[in-house]
Amino acid sequence: MLFHANVPLHFWVEAFSTAVYTINRLPKPILNEVSPFEILYGKSPTYAMFRTFGCLCFPYLRDYAKHKFEPRSLPCIFLRYNSSYKGFRCLDPTTHRVFVTRHARFDETIFPSSSSHMQPSQALSDFISFHDPCISNSSLLGTNPSAGSHPLPQETESRPCKSCALELDSSRVSSMPLPSISHSAPETVSDMQPPPILHSSNQNSQPMTTRGKAAATDSVYDTFLQCFSKNSPANISSVIYGANNPTYTTVLQSRIKNRRFNATTTPKPIIIVTPLNESDVQAAVVCAKNMSMQLKIRSGGHDYEGLSYVSGVPFIVIDMFNLRSINVDIPTETATVQVGATIGELYYSIQAKSNVHAFPAGVCPTVGIGGHITGGGYGIMLRKYGLTVDNVIDAQIVDVNGRILDRKGMGEDLFWAIRGGGGASFGVILSYKIKLVRVPEAVTVFRVERTLEENATNIVHQWQYAAQKIDNDLFIRLLLQPSTGKVKGTKTVKATFISLFLGNADRLMSVISAGFPELGLKKEDCKEMSWAKAVLFWANFDNTTSVEMLLNRTSDTVKFLKRKSDYIQNPISKDGLEWIWKKMLEVGKVGFVFNQYGGKMNEIAETATPFPHRAGNIFKIQYSVSWEEEGSEAEKNYMTQIRRLYSYMTPFVAKNPRCAFLNYRDLDIGINHHGNNSYDEGKVYGAMYFKANFDRLVKVKTAVDPDNFFRNEQSIPTLPSSI
Ligand SMILES: Cc1cc2nc3c(=O)[nH]c(=O)nc-3n(C[C@H](O)[C@H](O)[C@H](O)COP(=O)(O)OP(=O)(O)OC[C@H]3O[C@@H](n4cnc5c(N)ncnc54)[C@H](O)[C@@H]3O)c2cc1C
Repeated sequence: MLFHANVPLHFWVEAFSTAVYTINRLPKPILNEVSPFEILYGKSPTYAMFRTFGCLCFPYLRDYAKHKFEPRSLPCIFLRYNSSYKGFRCLDPTTHRVFVTRHARFDETIFPSSSSHMQPSQALSDFISFHDPCISNSSLLGTNPSAGSHPLPQETESRPCKSCALELDSSRVSSMPLPSISHSAPETVSDMQPPPILHSSNQNSQPMTTRGKAAATDSVYDTFLQCFSKNSPANISSVIYGANNPTYTTVLQSRIKNRRFNATTTPKPIIIVTPLNESDVQAAVVCAKNMSMQLKIRSGGHDYEGLSYVSGVPFIVIDMFNLRSINVDIPTETATVQVGATIGELYYSIQAKSNVHAFPAGVCPTVGIGGHITGGGYGIMLRKYGLTVDNVIDAQIVDVNGRILDRKGMGEDLFWAIRGGGGASFGVILSYKIKLVRVPEAVTVFRVERTLEENATNIVHQWQYAAQKIDNDLFIRLLLQPSTGKVKGTKTVKATFISLFLGNADRLMSVISAGFPELGLKKEDCKEMSWAKAVLFWANFDNTTSVEMLLNRTSDTVKFLKRKSDYIQNPISKDGLEWIWKKMLEVGKVGFVFNQYGGKMNEIAETATPFPHRAGNIFKIQYSVSWEEEGSEAEKNYMTQIRRLYSYMTPFVAKNPRCAFLNYRDLDIGINHHGNNSYDEGKVYGAMYFKANFDRLVKVKTAVDPDNFFRNEQSIPTLPSSI
């Protein structure tokens, strides 16, 4: 090869490497005409990369250019295939630099080392005119004063890995700017800012995947792999997915629950780690931290803003879905559940062992335990038993140093913080130990609808008073949606009252007639069933659906979503409600979910957990809009609608601060750029989610993760050093 290409002898290593690359991909008689490559990787090699050693090549050099007037390519000599990631190594004979690139053009009839001097060939001219007609051939061939002074290739200066090293530098990662947005909640329609898009599907600008980025990505993958193999005995192929892995997209998409973040333009993780055991989680944390890579933690993927699987900076996702064992222990009335389980799986496991036990968590069975519990966990038994976090008695977390800590090990402060403060600011939660609650063998549910023409305004008005004082066994959620009226061409608001009562229908009827007669509930509206069947009723399944449906992790339809939240502390007057209906119909599609508070929620101190919205709150509002039309126009339209309605509600909702529920993640209320201003930025959304508990969360954060490794767009910041 050296002789054929007339390449100097000191390139024997390159020739040898090229020969080995080629031989490994060719069928061997001794292997029954199968190549060593195929035996090793179980797939046929592609021959498209094969090139002739020493031939003329033109690597694409844009990633090496310091400015746009630098050459896009140079005539080089093809030396070998790159070993650590896919690419060609091309030697510039003038400067002795080696460029590594995936994109190059070859002229396999010319061997530059045989020529006395190099001239740009036709292929080079084609390359230049295709990429940038303004650059002249002479600038491409620019001379280097040091030409000839370095007999050996100077790789270290020129490999694209250099650029990946820059991208991985921790200070750069943490200070990488996110798109700037308003940091205060809009108070009036005119105050509303343009959509604070962090990583929405409909960004106008297509993120540019440069070759430098591709090379950096490969390098991150290789470095992570090396580190991970040292720290975990796992079979890498079933735990780590790089973007080139054929299963990568399936793994990524299977837990994306909001189509806004499932577009080609949505930033994707460089690596997805799917731990099979706790040591894989420890290894992932240690390696991501060593590399200063942002780590996003995903359990069920229901974050309304996609924070568990999208980021504005290069990132790795740790997807906990394989860690989902559930151990229910009826004698102690407890259960231990790993974070990758869904709440449906938990409910199923409880009812399989007891028909008089349950757990007070959320409504939708596909929601992940990991994010749901740590975000506060709101469900239909909260008036009787409080939130999920009020029923957590222990937890296991992998901290920033890769240690596994239980409640005793982590201490009461951190245990307090992860019960409502959002675990992703503090570590990777592995499991929770929860306290089961008692339910009757038969509970009662109903769903009744009333339109404005059917006295809905009066009933909703009265519901606000009933909500505060009615029996704690009763929970009534109120859905308010714009709807078509009975008379053609008219619009109305439909109020749907959905309920769970922890008792039989007779007792429910007497509770309603004493505390909320305005609803006009009839006995035939009520259905008695097991608690597990009631969960399915609430998830919109009919009575014939088997409880096995709770195990279905994909039973919900994935749409484009936007949610926002508010709290109501004073009943809204009838006039106020009528004005709201008018605005609702004017806005278009956005609906409200009013979730009743009171009962047990009034008995728990604001400081008992980071979740502060306790006594004094009559109900929580979820603003809800979902759509199926694709495209930026639709997204703009619905995002504007929901922001308008939120703005119209300003006079009626809790103020100073206006409040929000962490599990109804909403980036409109503030984003943290994790720069010098991190505490102040954090305080904007932090006060809304946690009120005065924000400062305690900051202190805990500063103690357990002072370098702010566990961070996201709305994580808890560390204390500024001056405080
Ligand atoms: C269809 C639907 C129905 C919902 N119904 C309810 C409801 O009834 N009640 C309610 O309270 N909420 C509800 N939510 C909101 C839901 O509880 C939150 O979005 C919750 O955070 C989702 O948890 P997840 O694990 O599925 O999501 P993920 O997207 O995986 O995680 C959400 C957040 O938690 C972090 N996180 C996840 N796992 C871990 C972990 N192991 N350690 C540390 N941090 C972690 C993530 O990084 C992210 O910040 C609903 C959401 C949807 C989409």
